[in-house]
Amino acid sequence: MATYTPMIQQYLQIKAQYPDAFLFFRLGDFYEMFFEDAVKAAQELEITLTSRDGGAEERIPMCGVPYHSAQGYIEQLIEKGYKVAICEQVEDPKTAKGVVRREVVQLITPGTVMEGKRLLEKENNYLATVSAFQDGTYGLAYMDLSTGENRVTLLYSWEEVMNELYAIGAKEIVISPDFPETLRQLLKERYDMTVSEEENTVLPETFFTVAAALEQDKLKMTFARLVHYIVRTQKRSLDHLQPAQVYQVDQYMKMDVYSKRNLELTETIRSKGRKGSLLWLLDETVTAMGGRLLKQWLDRPLLDREVIEWRFSIVETLLQQYFERQELRTLLREVYDLERLAGRVAYGNVNARDFVQLKKSLQQIPALKEVVQRLNHQEAEQLAERLDPCFELVELLERAIQEQPPLSVKEGNIIKDGYNETLDRFRDASRNGKTWIAQLESKEREITGIKSLKIGYNRVFGYYIEVTKANLHLLPEGRYERKQTLANAERFVTQELKEKEALILEAEEKSMELEYELFVQIREQVKQFIPRLQMLAKMISQLDVLQSFATVSEARHYVRPRFSHERELWIQAGRHPVVEKVLGSQTYVPNDCMMNRERELLLITGPNMSGKSTYMRQVALTAIMAQIGCFVPADQAVLPIFDQVFTRIGAADDLVSGQSTFMVEMLEARNAIVHATQNSLILFDEIGRGTSTYDGMALAQAIIEYVHHKIGAKTLFSTHYHELTVLEQALPRLKNVHVRAIEEDGKVVFLHKIEDGPADQSYGIHVAELAELPAELIQRAKEILAELEQPGQEKTKPFEQLSLFAEEAPAKSKDVSLSKKEKEVIRLLESLNLLDMTPLQALNQ
Ligand code: ADP
Repeated sequence: MATYTPMIQQYLQIKAQYPDAFLFFRLGDFYEMFFEDAVKAAQELEITLTSRDGGAEERIPMCGVPYHSAQGYIEQLIEKGYKVAICEQVEDPKTAKGVVRREVVQLITPGTVMEGKRLLEKENNYLATVSAFQDGTYGLAYMDLSTGENRVTLLYSWEEVMNELYAIGAKEIVISPDFPETLRQLLKERYDMTVSEEENTVLPETFFTVAAALEQDKLKMTFARLVHYIVRTQKRSLDHLQPAQVYQVDQYMKMDVYSKRNLELTETIRSKGRKGSLLWLLDETVTAMGGRLLKQWLDRPLLDREVIEWRFSIVETLLQQYFERQELRTLLREVYDLERLAGRVAYGNVNARDFVQLKKSLQQIPALKEVVQRLNHQEAEQLAERLDPCFELVELLERAIQEQPPLSVKEGNIIKDGYNETLDRFRDASRNGKTWIAQLESKEREITGIKSLKIGYNRVFGYYIEVTKANLHLLPEGRYERKQTLANAERFVTQELKEKEALILEAEEKSMELEYELFVQIREQVKQFIPRLQMLAKMISQLDVLQSFATVSEARHYVRPRFSHERELWIQAGRHPVVEKVLGSQTYVPNDCMMNRERELLLITGPNMSGKSTYMRQVALTAIMAQIGCFVPADQAVLPIFDQVFTRIGAADDLVSGQSTFMVEMLEARNAIVHATQNSLILFDEIGRGTSTYDGMALAQAIIEYVHHKIGAKTLFSTHYHELTVLEQALPRLKNVHVRAIEEDGKVVFLHKIEDGPADQSYGIHVAELAELPAELIQRAKEILAELEQPGQEKTKPFEQLSLFAEEAPAKSKDVSLSKKEKEVIRLLESLNLLDMTPLQALNQ
């Protein structure tokens, strides 16, 4: 260390405190990086790696980015999950003795970005923290630093932690240094999150109010960890942090990670993008705040019937009153992102343009209020009352801030005339000076008799008198001092001009300084309004989401569902909202769905691509839409309120975790079976397909029986094991339904129409017939089928795969020598459930 130059020593000392971040070390107009950081940054940012002498024998690797364009580079690194420590010179290099003092002024991390492209308008950016407690519970807290929202909850399993983290899409997670290593790995691998550490869990006093709702110590500690991390990394005002809200996951409809993905609520499975998801379909919001709230609602469908009905009721009113809704949309469009603006005010990185936008947004509020009142509807009226136009703030901004201020807050032209007397005086001095100079031109022309004499200004030389070369001889001696020579003119100053110029420049400098001071004062005043602005933002975003629901519901002919008490479900002419939108409503075939106490389980049979999984998903999506307060894609819908939705649907092969498809299938099935209640909805698509026919079918049947006997959840079960359709006779609450196929102009056409009863098994033979296979062959196939369809017969055995129950399989081949009759008897005996029979029944049997 000693051999390094003092500056490099300083660098190393600071770097030692930020081992996991790129240290952007301010050096004049550049941020420089050294050593390992330089090598890695040069690669990641594709910038040139150089080296410099640092006092030691070997040269030090170095690379740098210009101060002015640093933002883009910082964003690139954050995007890749890195952290960046911004280290500035904190004293004036001119007056510094020795090496200029430097300090890290902010640590930017994926969970704490406040600006830039990475902060998507319609998405929250969450920083989360998890505490693992000895008793197996977990504290979870998360914050969106850009909006100031905070939520805290206690969870009872690691699975729930993962579900929540997935739901909020946390970018970064803060854990304690002794967090269990296996779980730490899961966080990194599964969600690709940036992991940070923070030890301190004692809540600082200044945050007592923000944390007021947290009574339990576990929650307090968890939230405190988050707070400490933010304080340590951001080193600035956090006045915009909103009171932490405590919630319980069972206040909302529960859906695990798999189900959310499978149903493509906020992103599609294939592209991981919004397009094609339910969120994409429903998003007709016109403000950024509304966009973010919609995603939050979709992640947490409600259970509270009253609140849901409240939303329906406003949606209905907005849907009926077209003109008011259009007006509302127009007004909302003019409302700027108040939540993030409040964050930037607290942070101190707003500019005067933000204030102009804030004023314009607030000026919409009285009109907005008026439109909502005009809806003439009780629930809407309550909303209108809470729209706070913040008149005092509008008045302040109107009086103080110019209409078209520059981006920079240090170069003047921000504050209006008349706002501050001293400023007005400086401005007068500067303006008077300028008029004086303008008059000087005619005076000088008179004195010298040079008609082409001009007075001009440039940044380098200031004010000057310009005379063409041809007229130089007319200038009197002595009075004019030469300043600059051009090709055909000379520029001069006079004593008088110099004095005036000094006055003007001084006044301008002073007025710029004063403007900045005033701006900061105004910013402090705006800060006082943060809680009111945040409340307003909440109201605006709700209105926006509700109008979005109304807009979509009108365009796509959705209806207001009714909730049933008897766990009954009746959907008439239901549609899958996204598939319908993509295919067009002409092409889409609507389907009914009826489930009640006699029909808890629907076993859906039908060939591939006939529409089974679309049907199942449409039922789930309809329930979810209803529980977020949106109308639903159907002609009529009566629904229970589901506490949980589970899905096991083919496509979501979990490649990331390296588990086999079949294992994932079983894990998802387990999840549903363990957690579902009779108020849940389960979708099982082709369970058991991932293994050999026999154990696949066996598992499928066992799962169906289990759900039927032990859970009683509303369940849609699709299968291509036609054999399972006989279960209808044994299980009273199971009903067969199938996708109808017809033969039309010599072709088998799947109508995507769901009807009661099992599928016709012989559609395959129809297809073979259409393909003109020899008549003799077709005839033989029909005979075999008939034989197979006889009760008690061994079913199809198309191919053998490696079986999960391999050891049991050979037992089946023992009975080859038995006659058909004998086999039937054995089968019958085996099917008896002795535990369910009286001795007399058994004897008779
Ligand atoms: P399965 O699960 O039976 O294999 P899918 O549900 O995946 O079949 O549907 C296959 C395709 O059929 C879908 O991609 C969709 O384009 C179309 N489809 C499904 N249901 C309908 C419907 N009700 N109306 C029109 N087309 C449909």
